[in-house]
Amino acid sequence: MCKYINIKETVEKFYSEGNKITTTEYLDFFDLFELNQSEWKLLKLIYESPDNSSTATALAIKLDFKGHQAINLKFKRIAEKIANHTNKFPFYKKTNKYWWWTLLATGEKKGEFFYWKLRPELIEAINIFEKSQSINSANWKKVIVEWIRRTKKLVQYKNEFLTFFDKIINLAGHPDRAYFGTNNNTISIVVGHLYLGVYIHSGDDKGIGMIVEKDFKNIKGIACTPVKSTLAKTSPHKLYWLWIKDISNLHQVLNHSEIWQSFRKASNLVIETPQGKTTREREKKGKIVLSALAVPKKIIQEYEYFQELELSIAKAKKISIEKRKIKLREAPEIPEKIFIKTTGFKRNPYVIVEVLERANGICELCEKEAPFIKITDGLPFLEVHHIEPLANGGKDTIENAVALCPNCHREAHHGINIEEIKKKLLCLTVEQNLGS
Ligand SMILES: [Zn+2]
Ligand SMILES: [Zn+2]
Repeated sequence: MCKYINIKETVEKFYSEGNKITTTEYLDFFDLFELNQSEWKLLKLIYESPDNSSTATALAIKLDFKGHQAINLKFKRIAEKIANHTNKFPFYKKTNKYWWWTLLATGEKKGEFFYWKLRPELIEAINIFEKSQSINSANWKKVIVEWIRRTKKLVQYKNEFLTFFDKIINLAGHPDRAYFGTNNNTISIVVGHLYLGVYIHSGDDKGIGMIVEKDFKNIKGIACTPVKSTLAKTSPHKLYWLWIKDISNLHQVLNHSEIWQSFRKASNLVIETPQGKTTREREKKGKIVLSALAVPKKIIQEYEYFQELELSIAKAKKISIEKRKIKLREAPEIPEKIFIKTTGFKRNPYVIVEVLERANGICELCEKEAPFIKITDGLPFLEVHHIEPLANGGKDTIENAVALCPNCHREAHHGINIEEIKKKLLCLTVEQNLGS
């Protein structure tokens, strides 16, 4: 034990003298996808452990490895890759050995156990990298493009890739049940345990593919194999993987309408198969539901939309607290996109300017100052409201318009005293405009 502590101190000294690795260096390293899936998993596991530290034995148990030696080897392999990437080799002369792990962690002996604790720069790098990988409804294309950029080999197929995933996302039958996500080996869209579409970067299953409901034979460079789990008796449908090993063949699929029709059918059927039935919480983590990405398919009138919303709110009020809790848990965090069709009136800008000037920063109903100053022009925030609504045939004139604070404006539309407010405002503008 004493011997160990001595070595540790020396190694730490050695690390801080010439081999210190910066957050940027770690990030560059992640950025190039130098780590394979299982190496990344190991790093993440230590990262997620309490105090960002763990023993090799504990990691072996979590990863289902036979013993801690295999973990040690893997950890060493990651550190070697870092060494090659940064040209920093932690060679310790006295023992004539490379102290690989010091490039990733410090070591600490607690009782009889030896703990790796990730270096703070590495922790920060993992944190930043994870954030940069997270997808939202606005950036999914960018995430794919970034992903492709890192892999280098794929750059020439960028547009084909985007078209492929765009089609998967927009043609999928149950966008509320499917999830899109990336990790450092795959870009995938899953329903339950099944891929609707996936790109796998390395390993035996390398390639790009999608689910279809029939066997497409005789297309050069494309293979079709049954989805194993759908061959089971419990599966009501038999589905296939359409698989392209060599990405240069991807273009053949993109405009093949029969394939995409078949994809659409398969994506509708997949939720009825045993493997496609449910997606566990764990599998949704870091992913985004397709209905938040897909271009909406139907257009709904604005009034219909609000009617529907009112109805569903009324329904939501009626169910028990317990049921509501379940509903809240099950609901996707990111809302589905819809197209809302609305008609409006082209309003006269001179009326707006004139009325705001008349109000001079003071709400014309409650006579209090505007609640805040606008970032756009530094003027007080008031809203111009039509006393007799334009939709009811009201005129767009300064006599029919008032400047209100947001509170009064809402009240003028939704308050219990709508009629009184209307009368009060009418008197006011008549007086005002007579006076001027
Ligand atoms: Zn007011
Ligand atoms: Zn209004």
